[in-house]
Amino acid sequence: MKIAILSAMPEESAPLLEALGYQEKINFANNNYYITKYKNLDIVIAYSKIGKVFSTISACSLIQKFNCQMLLFSGVAGAINENLKIGDLIYADKLCQHDLDICAFGHPKGFVPEGSVFVKTNEKLNDIAKQVASQEKINIKKATIATGDQFVCDEKTKLQIKQIFNADAIEMEGASVAVACHALNVPCLLIRSISDSANKDASFDFDEFLEHSSKRSAKFIISILEKLNG
Ligand code: SAH
Repeated sequence: MKIAILSAMPEESAPLLEALGYQEKINFANNNYYITKYKNLDIVIAYSKIGKVFSTISACSLIQKFNCQMLLFSGVAGAINENLKIGDLIYADKLCQHDLDICAFGHPKGFVPEGSVFVKTNEKLNDIAKQVASQEKINIKKATIATGDQFVCDEKTKLQIKQIFNADAIEMEGASVAVACHALNVPCLLIRSISDSANKDASFDFDEFLEHSSKRSAKFIISILEKLNG
């Protein structure tokens, strides 16, 4: 089994590379892909750069160029649901593109013809995440994630996205990665740890908690690998 572990930023990949090391670094389409192993699992670690376009390139590369058969995403997100606090761990059960807008033609926000507003992640992998969390007595919450090419740091935008999509968290890569995995029929698990609350303090909180939350997410991904290794 060959598993992709994708993040958006170097800070999110760093704890994974630190824990798993790598045997080879391959540059492809302006990104580095780190080839490694965890016990019996073949692993490719990469960060895409921020946003939907870059993350799509990386997800497709991991699947088509590097032949990964499963994709795990590890990173940070802003909280929209007030029950989510900085440091909390979430898995996305469904995601949408909050900035996809052809409403002028009568379509709902996040929808384009032949697409759907929400894309789902893999149920079996989500169940594994829940099992691992309960075995390790870690609290993980199911979340609807809204993705867009925008760092959200104001209450008004946050509330709008919450109302339209009933979203719990916000970030900039999840939906595009999930759409790519869905199109290429590769199971996908999306884990994020909260770095901020998408409010006026968000950029400050993000800088403050990026490292801690990235480590939390990466640590959980490694527990998932342990489970997948059997
Ligand atoms: N500080 C970085 C930019 C970070 S952008 C720089 O200057 O290079 C925020 C990143 O974290 C994105 O990858 C996104 O997926 C996630 N994220 C965390 N909080 C977010 C929020 N409030 N809104 C949108 N994305 C958020």
